[in-house]
Amino acid sequence: MVNPLFHTYITAPWKIEYVKRKKDPNQCVLCAIAQKTPGVVTWEVFRDDLIMVLLNRFPYNPGHLLVSPLEHYENYELVPPELVSHLALVLQRGIKLLKQTHQPAAFNIGLNLGNIAGASIKHLHWHLVPRYLGDLNFMEILETRVLVETLEQTMSKLRQQTSILQTK
Ligand SMILES: [Zn+2]
Repeated sequence: MVNPLFHTYITAPWKIEYVKRKKDPNQCVLCAIAQKTPGVVTWEVFRDDLIMVLLNRFPYNPGHLLVSPLEHYENYELVPPELVSHLALVLQRGIKLLKQTHQPAAFNIGLNLGNIAGASIKHLHWHLVPRYLGDLNFMEILETRVLVETLEQTMSKLRQQTSILQTK
C-alpha cells in the first residue's frame, strides 16, 4: 500500500483533470467556492464576510494557504482600500496561524497577477507558503513534491486554531 504521508506529484495526474475540464469562460473556481456551489471541492479553513482562507489542494508545502476575497477581482489596483487592508491583516494572521500549527522556518507570500506571472486562476488570491529547512532539496534535486502530512492532517491542525484568523 502506498503511504499516504508521502505523496509525489511526479506524474501530476491532477493536471489531466484540469486540462480536460469544461472551459466555461464564466466559470471561476474561487467564485464557485465563495458561493458554496454544490459539488465544488473545497478545502476551506476559514471565511469572514470579505475573505476566505483555503488550503491549496496541490500544495507546494504542508500548510500552503490561499487567501482570497470572496468577491471576484482580477486587478489588484481595483480592490477597494478597506479590502486591501483586510487582506493584508488576514495574511499577517495566517503567518501567526502557521507558526502555531507548523513552525515553519520561513515564508513566501506571493500574488501572481496575470498568466505570464503564473496565475492560473484570474480571481485574485495570495499564496502563503510556509518553508521548512531542507524543502528545497526535494523540489530542486528530485523535481518532485514530497509532503510529510496529508491535506486532512493539515486541515485538522489549522481548524483547531482558526480563531487566530478572526480580525473582527
Ligand atoms: Zn472569481
